[in-house]
Amino acid sequence: MPLKLLVEEQELFKLCTAITIGNGAKTQFWKDRWLQGEAHMYIAPDCFRLAWRKNITVQQAFIDRKWMRGLRRISTTAAINQFVDLWGRLQQIHLSDSEDTITWLLTADGSYSAASTYDVQFVGSFADNRWEQVWQMKVENKCRVFMWLLLQCKLPTANRIIQRGGMADAICKLCHCREETTLHMVANCSYAKEVWRILAQRASITFVQISTPLSNVKDWWEHLNKATGLDFVHLRQVLTYGTWNIWKEPCRRVFENKAILADQLAQVILQDVAAYRQAHANPVF
Ligand SMILES: [Zn+2]
Repeated sequence: MPLKLLVEEQELFKLCTAITIGNGAKTQFWKDRWLQGEAHMYIAPDCFRLAWRKNITVQQAFIDRKWMRGLRRISTTAAINQFVDLWGRLQQIHLSDSEDTITWLLTADGSYSAASTYDVQFVGSFADNRWEQVWQMKVENKCRVFMWLLLQCKLPTANRIIQRGGMADAICKLCHCREETTLHMVANCSYAKEVWRILAQRASITFVQISTPLSNVKDWWEHLNKATGLDFVHLRQVLTYGTWNIWKEPCRRVFENKAILADQLAQVILQDVAAYRQAHANPVF
């Protein structure tokens, strides 16, 4: 049975896989991360906005340079730079007769089975008993997967993409002044800190004070989990939906072209938690 995934889950899936291009027939030109681990809609967002055929495959894109359709309307310097960069990258590509292949980045041998996406086989790839508790959290499945990947530093931040030889803007898209690492994005970024401060205030959470900055994501997560004011299940829901929404904010800025203020994001997070809790409330006997 084919997996039916939500948009966010599809994104998450794409983050966990690498595509090797053969004939380009199965791979989406703009949306899949087929060139140096990045999707063109991310690295050339202005071109993507102008492109007429947004769901074109790589194979179709190369026929008569169909990917360029619509790009004559380019008028800004940023879009021109993106176009030139993209054009340069595409010069290196030569399609072959073989099929495109997908590699699962999260296992040693790159093998993947559909069933492994969200279940125990997936967990088994990274046995670390300390973090099994993430799978017990009462949050949506996509958030459990997300937190698991985040705590293993397996999400593709700019620094990881660059380390793997890919191209990415190294600077955090939220504060525009520090390197984008996992720990920075969810914990040390001035934007993230403001979201956590407002959340603590609105949800009556008291975080444990620390004297020295935390040096890794797992320590950061353990630290947050020591907060008081809410019962543990509820606390971890706020922490998880908080982290998830902070993580999604740069995407929102790229795709929807709008930035949400920390104050508004805190509101979204509390609404997410409230909606989940209402949908999963224990029946009263
Ligand atoms: Zn930042």
